Amino acid sequence: MTQYQILPIDPHAHLFEVILTIEKPSGSELELYLPNWIPGSYMIRDFAKHIQWLKAESAGKPLPVRKLDKARWLVENTEQGAGQVEVRYQVYAWDLSVRGAHLDQTHGFFNGTSVFLAVKGEEESQCKVNIERPRGQAYKNWRVATGLKPAGDTQEFGFGWYLADNYDELIDCPVEMSDFRLISFEACGVPHHMALTGRHQVDETRLKNDLIKICEHHIRFFGEPAPVDRYIFMTYVLGKGFGGLEHRNSTALHCSREDLPLPCDDPEKVKDSYQTFLDLCSHEYFHTWNVKRIKPAEFLPYDTQQESHTELLWAFEGFTSYYDNLALVQTGIIPIKQYLLSIAKTITTVQRARGRLIQSVTDSSFDAWTKFYKQDENAPNAVVSYYSKGALIALCMDLLIRKLTNNQKSLRDVMLRLWQDFGQPQIGVERDSIQKITLEVCGGERQTELEQFFQLALYSTDELPLAELLKTVDMELVFQPRNDRNDKGQVKDEMPHNKPKPSLGIDYQTANLGITVKSVYWDSAACEAGISAGDQLISMNDLRIDNDEFTKRLAECEIGETVIIRGFRRDELMRFEVTLRPSAADTAYLVYGSEEKDQSPKLKQWLTA
Ligand code: ZN
Repeated sequence: MTQYQILPIDPHAHLFEVILTIEKPSGSELELYLPNWIPGSYMIRDFAKHIQWLKAESAGKPLPVRKLDKARWLVENTEQGAGQVEVRYQVYAWDLSVRGAHLDQTHGFFNGTSVFLAVKGEEESQCKVNIERPRGQAYKNWRVATGLKPAGDTQEFGFGWYLADNYDELIDCPVEMSDFRLISFEACGVPHHMALTGRHQVDETRLKNDLIKICEHHIRFFGEPAPVDRYIFMTYVLGKGFGGLEHRNSTALHCSREDLPLPCDDPEKVKDSYQTFLDLCSHEYFHTWNVKRIKPAEFLPYDTQQESHTELLWAFEGFTSYYDNLALVQTGIIPIKQYLLSIAKTITTVQRARGRLIQSVTDSSFDAWTKFYKQDENAPNAVVSYYSKGALIALCMDLLIRKLTNNQKSLRDVMLRLWQDFGQPQIGVERDSIQKITLEVCGGERQTELEQFFQLALYSTDELPLAELLKTVDMELVFQPRNDRNDKGQVKDEMPHNKPKPSLGIDYQTANLGITVKSVYWDSAACEAGISAGDQLISMNDLRIDNDEFTKRLAECEIGETVIIRGFRRDELMRFEVTLRPSAADTAYLVYGSEEKDQSPKLKQWLTA
């Protein structure tokens, strides 16, 4: 057994100290390593750089330690057979994210990938961890939230010994320690908890009731019993924050204070920010099946030392994104119109990304490590999100399967097959598994139509048949020029006729003087005139521009008019002659295609569980 002791030795200096004890070293050399990435977040993060020092000893005598590469150490245990080896090291923890480790006087959080060195060859043996309370009166009310199993006389949420069956489980169970608020409930008879750290107010009852609905919905979606015997949401509430990372029986979340429901909120309405938070909880919870148990073959097992490329993130993130807010409407937490608005916004997001014209979702999945996760100023032109386009592919598949089977089957039947054939027996999903299962679910009928759909949706950059498929549920999809800068898509009773406005084709943010260009869309008026990302634009037709004025002044111009824009590139003043173009029809409007509007039987059949 590999044994770890972790002590938040100096919260003010953000330091954890870890003692790793190897009871019976098997050879004269011990190789230790830390993962270079954390499963679920596909980027090399070199966690080992935060190990400040490391030393090893046996029976009180120091052992020589040699670094093999950025994340591997070799301990020379010449006295082999003499007894156990103890390795001691300190980890700097000041990464405020769900992916790393963070420690101060208000809380401690860590992923095993940041703090627990693996012992090569021992990855399959059981691990025991002693999670110690920081020293001092200030920490007497702290508790521990983790998916690890308490061992010995350790109380639930207490400091003390915990167990993991192997190293993979150890690094898949992050730990939160603080005086968190604890909300506990049961879903389908399984105990669930949400630990909320950080200053906040919350309507506990409302949050608890909504979480019960979501968790029970997902458990019943895949079928009881749940694959976990306990689940914990670890939520860090910040002034501004958003993010989550899925784990086998827990999730680490960041949210903004305003995302939580408040006792004074209108109980009849789910505010946008709260919907965002519930979407996130629902998303990470759905991952308990889709990616934590149903996995791409490339992740069985994970190679945490280097990039693991898979073409399938469109399914693991896309299907999860599709079902995260579908669960909210199917459980009645949000009304149909609010759900349709989310769909309109997702369609708009994909439509506005010019990268959809040059990158397929399978390529986006494969290259996630260097493209999606390392987006630069050219990302809008070069990258398509496998989350949002993947969600739209899921939407198309759901509606297409319903259409082809006369509503006898749906995408859920594909998910159930993935769960039964791959998730439960722990078999990796191959690149064509989902296509094969879908053909089988549809009973071999219309094989060509399905094969053409997959070719188009997964391997090409052609438009998805969204409009055609949304018609089958009585919705019309039309693309319109945006109404204003905040228009991200809408749901309408009647067909809109927005007029295009003069457009530059840039993304920007306000600067001290004028505006700073974040991105220039390829083939836009700004691109043609030579405006580039990073340029600080200060005047249009010799009048100063800032955020509001710029939008207003631009709206007063004519399409086809040439304006003179001046701005700085680095410290050099530049002059651009820009011929304004009509704004693109890139905003998705969903229009009710039947008299019954959101009471349409076809729409209700799809959107009620
Ligand atoms: Zn996800």
